[in-house]
Amino acid sequence: MQIQTDTHTHTISSGHAYSSLQENVNAARRAGIRLMAMTDHAPSMPGAPHIWFFGNLKVVPRIIDNVGVLRGVEANICDVDGNIDVPEQLVEQLDLVIASLHEAVIAPSDSASHTRALIGAIKSGLVDVIGHPGNPNYPIDIDALVKTAAQHQVLIELNNSSFLGSRRGSHKNCLAIAEAARDHGAWLTLGSDAHVSFSVGQFAECCDVIKQVGFPMERLVSTHAAKLLDFLEARGKTSMSKYHELR
Ligand SMILES: [Zn+2]
Ligand SMILES: [Zn+2]
Repeated sequence: MQIQTDTHTHTISSGHAYSSLQENVNAARRAGIRLMAMTDHAPSMPGAPHIWFFGNLKVVPRIIDNVGVLRGVEANICDVDGNIDVPEQLVEQLDLVIASLHEAVIAPSDSASHTRALIGAIKSGLVDVIGHPGNPNYPIDIDALVKTAAQHQVLIELNNSSFLGSRRGSHKNCLAIAEAARDHGAWLTLGSDAHVSFSVGQFAECCDVIKQVGFPMERLVSTHAAKLLDFLEARGKTSMSKYHELR
């Protein structure tokens, strides 16, 4: 399966990751990735950079060594209404916003609250991707999440790290999410969630899930850089023309 994009990568700036942007770019190129989102943790995560870090992403070239670099963030969902720790004015400057539930920021409670938080984040319009929704620490109403994501054209992430020990017990949930996305018209994106360059663009486990559930390729944005660019453009992201040479 050809995969050209990685929508979830961390640099050393996240505080518990180990590679530079340049090292991630090099690894992306070696893995055949043409478009990579740089998505460091937003400020509520312990060790994460100050909010100014994200405001200054304008200094990062759009394309480095033939790899497109989207200016992104992995925002934290902070409450049951789905509010995130990245202000709206900053979201407008960014190319890709992931919203995730993290134990260090919001304690797990019950399925109704987790689902409400994720749906609130989707409906806010500020979020392009729901990160690692298969985390077994945060059980959710999968059908409700997937239907809302489909309706609001928000990507659901299949997170490769979730299959490699980051969030143990995710596999069953991720399969169920991929099946529900297949059946309810939702779109998927693959994210390595790399915290070291060697993981960038590595999607063997995600691809197994895609094949296993027979997910329709037309709703997997990761197969072509142009597909992800089109999707983000349709969501109102205005900088996608800066990556036209990757189409
Ligand atoms: Zn995360
Ligand atoms: Zn992450």
